[in-house]
Amino acid sequence: MEKNKYKLQDLEKLVSLAKRRGIIFPSSEIYGGLASVWDYGPIGVEIKRNVKNLWWKSFVTEREDIFGIDASILMHPNVWKASGHLDSFSDPLVECSVTGKRYREDHIFIVEIETKKEKKIISVEASDEEEARSLLKDKVIKITNLPNSERKENPSPDGGILSEARNFNLMFKTFIGPVEDSSSTVYLRPETAQAMFVNFLNVLNTSRKKIPFGIAQQGKSFRNEITPGNFTFRTREFEQMEMEFFCSPDEDEKWHEYWIDFSMEWFKKFGIREENLMIRKHGKEELPHYSKASSDIEYLFPWSWGELETISNRTDYDLKAHSELSGKDLSYFDQENNKRYTPYVIEPAMGADRSVLAFLCDAYCEEETEKETRTLLKLHPEISPIQIAVLPLSRNEKLSEYSRKIFENINKKFTAQYDDTQSIGRRYRRQDEIGTPLCVTIDFESVEEDDSVTIRHRDTMKQIRVSSDKLLDAINDQINSFS
Ligand code: ATP
Repeated sequence: MEKNKYKLQDLEKLVSLAKRRGIIFPSSEIYGGLASVWDYGPIGVEIKRNVKNLWWKSFVTEREDIFGIDASILMHPNVWKASGHLDSFSDPLVECSVTGKRYREDHIFIVEIETKKEKKIISVEASDEEEARSLLKDKVIKITNLPNSERKENPSPDGGILSEARNFNLMFKTFIGPVEDSSSTVYLRPETAQAMFVNFLNVLNTSRKKIPFGIAQQGKSFRNEITPGNFTFRTREFEQMEMEFFCSPDEDEKWHEYWIDFSMEWFKKFGIREENLMIRKHGKEELPHYSKASSDIEYLFPWSWGELETISNRTDYDLKAHSELSGKDLSYFDQENNKRYTPYVIEPAMGADRSVLAFLCDAYCEEETEKETRTLLKLHPEISPIQIAVLPLSRNEKLSEYSRKIFENINKKFTAQYDDTQSIGRRYRRQDEIGTPLCVTIDFESVEEDDSVTIRHRDTMKQIRVSSDKLLDAINDQINSFS
């Protein structure tokens, strides 16, 4: 695939393209929207489906050792007790004494700065130190993350003083049945992973598979995030693509490496530029309670590096915890080696929405042509919402009849769209902006003289003339030239 040299610096450009072209809209927009909640439009839904399908194909159907499930969002509350989410799925929050606004403690940086007039201590909200520094034009003398600050009274970014940190559980609560009391409280799942643990025995018994094997699912998760933002990067309702790979305890490290490499290759295979991806190993202090080791795959978003996926070694923590609370034996008998153990679990946990955002950011491109700036999405053809646009030059009856036949033929093999509105220039611009790799243009010569059509390549804008009986082969070749 031809590499995109353009670097998207300003997320707003993508947000506005997404709105203009039906990729992503603010939710409930006619009522003024709901903060950090987004809806995928007709083009966006196809992109997201393609990303999810490609993941499913790579992580489930192309493999013999992974099984898919589709579990409910509402689960027994004990699931969250055993997993530790009820006790510890929380973020420490600090509150401004003036505005009452709450911040994640680890997202506040206390900074000593020197301006022309004075030295002073202020605070800024940022997801990491790099971002905090980039927000400050003044000279930073000293910068400390709030949890490490030795000061007693710290300023808030709103002008007041910050309170002591208090824990805030991120799970959304609701009630099952008509009575709203503690016995009917249930939670919207904050991750899809637990359904794979509680279905471990079901899948093991019905698949007759030996360890190592994995269980995967995709679906919505909910977290009452304190500081959502950066478009669809951090939202309160999002979709995850997760897989729990059950292996023997003495093979955990080998499989951990395997799934880190596999995930990295997956992002590269579908077009993300290598220089915009990195693997970041978690420090010991960052590891969640269930993890022995975790690595993130991060993408260089326009604002900073951000996590797309975490691949964790969850050990036997979850199976043991569910075994203990449910009273069901979730251990495994390894017949070959004649030993019983609780399997270890390697978990590649990817966000569908964040991955879509990374694919969009990486594909976004602006090119100067003689007349204008051409905006395009250089998406991988398997992610593009439309692969082939069929564009008759006019609505003339004969031309339309011929073009319809061409369209129907293409549509059997590729995702195609027929568009005969507006000028051809505008139609090309629209297709470029939604990432359509190829346009097939049909003119009067096609019908009256040579029974041939023109294929236009999105990235090079080169056009070739092809006779209609060789069209599908030519499209195939051209599509392959992108990957
Ligand atoms: P973060 O550190 O960004 O809060 P996390 O480490 O808590 O994320 P995980 O629990 O590892 O996230 O979830 C796996 C994946 O799910 C993440 O890598 C991300 O792609 C996605 N994800 C998690 N939280 C959100 C969210 N609030 N909005 C969108 N995607 C999310």
